Amino acid sequence: MEKEKKSQLIPSFQVDHTLIKPGIYESRLDTLGDQFATTFDIRMKYPNTEPAIHPNAMHTIEHIVATFLRNDDEWKDRIIYWGPMGCLTGSYLIVKGHPKPEEIYPLMLRAFEHLAGYEGPVPGATPENCGNYILHDLAMAKYEAAQFAERLKSDPSFAYPTSERITTEKGMTFFDS
Ligand SMILES: [Zn+2]
Repeated sequence: MEKEKKSQLIPSFQVDHTLIKPGIYESRLDTLGDQFATTFDIRMKYPNTEPAIHPNAMHTIEHIVATFLRNDDEWKDRIIYWGPMGCLTGSYLIVKGHPKPEEIYPLMLRAFEHLAGYEGPVPGATPENCGNYILHDLAMAKYEAAQFAERLKSDPSFAYPTSERITTEKGMTFFDS
């Protein structure tokens, strides 16, 4: 069946954001030739039920976690992208291959514990290296990182609550969030 074939490659469901909790989820799977690229939803906040991350703190999370991931001996060669979600409740991580969320878990825990204890200047927060170098908040980034690391340790979550994908009023299927 066509639908069955498709579901082996991409999670063919819509995430119900009223049910999602902080955790590490496979958001999508892409193929590039004979290779996979996996996008993970690194969800730090309960969507729509608690304050989202402040833009300044999120920007600092982006800089420090990206720098950490690109220097991690185990994973640096597999990191394609790290960046914030527009809704400010989490970040996207794109890696080469098709690891499980459980395999990403130790890396995320290392990254966020690193950030929670980070001292010193925010890497790349200079006018030469960043498009808005004063939009940073290290203290809040550390607070958010410590909270997320604690959530990952006390109650890790790796499976999305699912429902049918949303078809918008204009008839297009809605994917990213
Ligand atoms: Zn920047």
